Amino acid sequence: MTQRPFILSLEGVNKSFDGFKVINDLNLYMDEGELRVIIGPNGAGKSTMLDLITGRTRPDRGTIEFDGKWDLTRMTECGINQLGIGRKFQTPSVYVDHTVIENIFLSLEGSRGVWHSLFCRRTPQQEDRIHEVLRTVELDGKGDWKAGRLSHGQKQWLEIGMLLAQNPKVLLVDEPAAGLTDEETRRTGDLLMSLAGKHTIVVIEHDMVFVRQIARKVTVLHQGSVLCEGTVDEVQENQRVIEVYLGRKKREAS
Ligand code: ADP
Ligand code: MG
Repeated sequence: MTQRPFILSLEGVNKSFDGFKVINDLNLYMDEGELRVIIGPNGAGKSTMLDLITGRTRPDRGTIEFDGKWDLTRMTECGINQLGIGRKFQTPSVYVDHTVIENIFLSLEGSRGVWHSLFCRRTPQQEDRIHEVLRTVELDGKGDWKAGRLSHGQKQWLEIGMLLAQNPKVLLVDEPAAGLTDEETRRTGDLLMSLAGKHTIVVIEHDMVFVRQIARKVTVLHQGSVLCEGTVDEVQENQRVIEVYLGRKKREAS
């Protein structure tokens, strides 16, 4: 039996900005359907890692492979997105003057831009798909609201919905709990957990309550490389992690 390739594999990846090594011989492997949480101190290179996967930034060295056959370092940002790799940035970017439904419609597979989305009739299949997405992100009932009326948490969920509308294989989510209330954070965790399996999900987060809620496997990034990997308990007990990450937090707090 042949083993399934990793859905994402980064090997020996390096990236410097102005002579400063932000990503340093990074190796990271993701199984299909996995929900992986990446933690690490500010400046560890977490967001840059997502920039490298999505083609926003090119590595100086190393390979980034998708599904064992696509060399992402040779593809455009748009081509990588079309392969089924979607990214959610930290701040939600939704069209505040358009309704929740219009926002999802805009992102639907095969949809042809803002103009088309606003003036063309939606097919019954598209309506079904939009409502399925709205139920998933618990915004059904708010479909006709202007997105600007949504709370910060609801905007985050709408944006996750907009990503889901494209039916991505891989979802990259950067600090989804930032600025959320405790209840919104918990619901965001539930949502991401419900999406795992159907999608492969990479979540960058530093809210440890949230990390504990959702994480099966945690990767700790430090100075652009993997410091350690394991369960939340394993990484929290790891002496090197305590020194570079939790120790630093304690110093900040005192
Ligand atoms: P994290 O997300 O872990 O907090 P980042 O990946 O955002 O860390 O940043 C790591 C380092 O890389 C920071 O020092 C940041 O200033 C630098 N950096 C990131 N992107 C760029 C860029 N496009 N140009 C120059 N420096 C960058
Ligand atoms: Mg970041």
